[in-house]
Amino acid sequence: MRDSFPIGRVFNIEIRVHYLFPLILAFLVATAESPLMALFLVLMLFGVVFLHELGHSLAAQAFGIQVLDITFWPLGGMARMADLPENPRIEGLVAIAGPAVNGVLFTAGLMVHLLLGLPLVGNSIPGYFVAINLMMGLFNLIPAFPMDGGRILRAWLARKRDWLDATEIAVQIGRAFALGMIIFGYWLTGGWVMPFIGAWVWWMGARELWHVRMKHKARAAYESTMWPGKEGGRGLTLKDLGKIEDYRGQLKDYKPRD
Ligand SMILES: [Zn+2]
Repeated sequence: MRDSFPIGRVFNIEIRVHYLFPLILAFLVATAESPLMALFLVLMLFGVVFLHELGHSLAAQAFGIQVLDITFWPLGGMARMADLPENPRIEGLVAIAGPAVNGVLFTAGLMVHLLLGLPLVGNSIPGYFVAINLMMGLFNLIPAFPMDGGRILRAWLARKRDWLDATEIAVQIGRAFALGMIIFGYWLTGGWVMPFIGAWVWWMGARELWHVRMKHKARAAYESTMWPGKEGGRGLTLKDLGKIEDYRGQLKDYKPRD
């Protein structure tokens, strides 16, 4: 990705930072009432985001799936993976691993909180840590595909359905949530982050649905013609193939449906 730069490697996964990230971090810290506290809180927030993404990544690696990189951008983090198989169990477990990390951190933070005898409501570092993990875990479980909860929903739907049908349904449900976030997000939270996430859910859902549709067309073409041939067959152009390959690796790795 050209819009980010690498900062290191963990478990053989490249960690990258989007160029906007340090700018927004500098802005937040410079405009805060207590800059040092703001810096600490933002770093803690992104430490938790990192552990959440690492949860997804290690679960994927356990299934032999290659994790390309984890990128931080101003609104969160994202782990990119190569050739995630169309398998409900694998997709479900990889998706739940992120919120599960927040669940463990939430429990650990709550125990520290209680051991230190801090009041449950009030401003303290352990209090922020507990709140961040609770909100991040629950928010990601909203079934708004392609958020984690939406992926769990698709995995659940795909147990008794074709992968493409399950994706179509999950994306429709995700769009309802996306619209809700866009229309009511500002009113609910008093900020523009929620409407922005709604727009992101809509856009990324559409993108992934397109990808799954194309991949299934490619499979049909693979079954009926010499693959990958001069034209993709059944309406799939070389341009489409190029877009799929940009998005998720070499098509020659895809196996026909069994
Ligand atoms: Zn996640």
